[in-house]
Formats: sequence, structure tokens, C-alpha cells
Amino acid sequence: MSHVFHRQSNAAYPVAVAGDGPWLIDDQGRRYLDACGGAAVCCLGHSDATVREAIREQAESLAYAHSAFFTTRAAENLANHLIARAEAEIPDNRLDKVYFVSGGSEAAEAALKLARQYFLEIGQPTRHRVIARRQSYHGNTLGALSVGGNQWRREPFEPMLMPATHIAPCYAYRDRAEGESEEAYGRRAADELEAAILDLGSETVAAFIAEPVVGATAGAVPAVPGYLTRIRDICDRHGVLLILDEVMCGMGRTGHLFACAEDGVSPDILLSAKGLGAGYQPIGAMLCSARIHDAIAGGSGFFQHGHTYMGHATACAAALAVQRRLHDDGLLDNVGVQGSALRAALEAAFGQHPHVGDIRGRGLLLGLELVADRATKAPFDAAVRLNARVKREAMARGLMCYPMGGTIDGRRGDHVMLAPPFIIGPEHVSEIVEKLGQALAAAL
Ligand code: PLP
Repeated sequence: MSHVFHRQSNAAYPVAVAGDGPWLIDDQGRRYLDACGGAAVCCLGHSDATVREAIREQAESLAYAHSAFFTTRAAENLANHLIARAEAEIPDNRLDKVYFVSGGSEAAEAALKLARQYFLEIGQPTRHRVIARRQSYHGNTLGALSVGGNQWRREPFEPMLMPATHIAPCYAYRDRAEGESEEAYGRRAADELEAAILDLGSETVAAFIAEPVVGATAGAVPAVPGYLTRIRDICDRHGVLLILDEVMCGMGRTGHLFACAEDGVSPDILLSAKGLGAGYQPIGAMLCSARIHDAIAGGSGFFQHGHTYMGHATACAAALAVQRRLHDDGLLDNVGVQGSALRAALEAAFGQHPHVGDIRGRGLLLGLELVADRATKAPFDAAVRLNARVKREAMARGLMCYPMGGTIDGRRGDHVMLAPPFIIGPEHVSEIVEKLGQALAAAL
């Protein structure tokens, strides 16, 4: 009998005991090809020698020093690296400071509080509202859940959530009208933000938060070209901070270290986690502009937020080793190559499948939307529990993929997300598609 409080109380989990590149191995010696990086985390696979060595070195000299007393070389070096990459890669980059936390939800909480405190510091105390999108996930803590749009995750806790305004996502597969160009659709979707700001009164709005590529709630849905540029412009015209949540889609997963670079847009605040430490240590980060930082530095001088493990030296050292591997070994080129190969193979295998409505994504963040009827795009009934079945059938075949239910017009829908490590080769691409095909055939 296990004393671990597992999330799914009736599940019998295999015991993971070892990693071997993109494979996980359980205590029975069974091997699982990790085609989803857990939850888009393990971008370097499970046994990277460089990262393990960096962790050992840091832990041997100094594992942890509380951030209220010290900074560390590991934290300083990692922040320098991230800002240098942002400067090099994001057009008109605004990001200049890095606030380290332990994961994605903490990064979202920090961003919401930073946005609020920024407006207090600059003498605009009426700005406290946050606008987000209906199809979004920003974390499971109460602040992050409040701005997230996944109804299933929100429902039990609704009375405890803070008020937030939700607008439509940018979801071309379902929302682009027939005959409407991508550009026109992107403008229409972005203009919902302006309408919401005007409706609330721009003097009350602090921030808009969105994922450049929607991950867990929608299965790798990128914005159409031009959408984020217009969002940036709307935020600037109304003095609203733009928070981009790259917890899942950032750190190279789309083929760019920062997903927003591909859209040509710099946020005021960017959230990072998952691929930042690649699962070797729990770490997240909130990057923000000098303008926001300096308002606090030149005002109260104190950001009223923090956690015990922020800037954890061993986590920062691991993340720096991960980031250097991505950069120095050109791994993002492989994201482009294998991402295109995987997408092409998915289209060849499932492009005409009666229950695959859409194949989408960027780089090695790809999704299939599963529908009961391809012509009407009607989702499967939630009672079918398709997600659980696909996951079970895939695991039985030694494949880890990420089937999830999202929210489509207030109803649950199904998708399978793939987010394999950046180190995969053509043989892994073939195996993923073959086993996924078998799992879908068994589950549907
Ligand atoms: N933001 C996004 C876009 C995510 O995908 C996630 C996790 O899936 C989070 C935030 C929350 O991150 P964490 O689970 O590390 O708290």
C-alpha cells in the first residue's frame, strides 16, 4: 500500500527507476518512449550527463542559500544568459530582469502581483483587473487558476477564485469563419481584447495574459500570424501590461528559445518553467522589463512577493547547464528538423483519419484534435473518457503521449499533445507515429 497521495487515487502507476535518453524505464524493465516530455518538460531527455555533472558540482560547493541573504553565481549567470538570449532573439526586446521561482504556477502568481504592484508604484492604483482567454492554462494555484480558462479545472474552486475577464482565444480551427483570411480572423480575435478593455475602463486594467501557443488546454494551438502583434499594439495603446505565458511553449519547444520571437513580439512580462530546467530540477522564472523593475526599485524598493526556494542555487546551475546545451549544441535546429518530420508523418498517418479533426502546432509542440465527427467538428462525449483510454493504450505500448480534455464552447473536447525531447532522431519519430496509431485504434 502506497502512502503517496497520488492525484488519481484508483490508478496503479508503474515505478520509474531510470532514464535513458528519450526513454523512461520502470522497475519491471519496461521502456517507455517519452513523446510528451512528461508535460512538455524533459527537453533533453532523461539522462543528460552535462546537466547531471552541473548539479553535482553545484550541490558539492553550495546547494542553497536563501535569497533574502545572498545572491549566488548560479542565479546571476543564469539570469545573464536568459537576458542575453532575449536581447539576441526577441525583436524590440523589453525583457531585462529575471525573478526565479520553482515552477510555472509560481511564475504566474508572481506576474499577476508584479503587474498590480507596478501600477501602485507609478500612481495608477485603479489598475487591478486582469484579462485572459477562455482557452488557457496558467497554473493550478488560486491566482493562476483565476485567470486560466479551463472550466473543468476551475469549477470546484469557482467561489474561491478572484474575478478575471475572459475573451475568446485565437483558435482558427474552430473560430475562423468560412472565407475569412487568417489575417482578418487574427484581427477580429485580437479586437476582442480592445473591446474588453474599453468595456472595463482602461484605467482599471492592469494586464492581459496569454500563451503564444496554447498548450494543455487546447493541444498546441498557435496564434495566427499578426494576432500577437495586434495584441501588443492594443496593450500599448491602453497602457496595459502584456504577460506572455511560455511555461509550456518556451525554451526552444517551438524551435525558438522564446516562442514570442517567431511572432515578432516582446511582452512586458514573460513566464518560463518546464524546459528551463528540463525536469532535472524544479525551476521557473518570470522575466520582466526594466521599466517595471525600475518603477519598484525607484519606488518602494521592494517587490512584495517571494518564496523560500526562489533562486535555488542547484536548480539555477542545472537550468544554466540545460540552456547552454540547447545553445552551444544547436539543439533548436533539431527541433526544427524533427518537428517538421514529425508533423509530416502525423499528417501522412492521420490526415484523413475520421476522428482526427486538426493537426497543428509549432516545432516539437504538436497536437491532434480528436472529434466524433470530422465534418461537424463535434467533440466526443465526455463520458467516453477518451483521454484516459488513449493514455492507457499508449502506455501499454511503451509510449508516453499527453491526451487531455480542453474546453470548446463550454464543452470538453479531446486532443493528444506531443512534446518529445529535442534529442530525438528519425527512428523515434517513426516509433511515436506507429505506436500512437495503434493506441488510437485501440481507444477509439
Ligand atoms: N502555464 C502553462 C502554459 C502551463 O502549461 C503550465 C503547466 O502545465 C503552467 C503554467 C503551470 O506550471 P506548473 O505546473 O509548473 O505550476
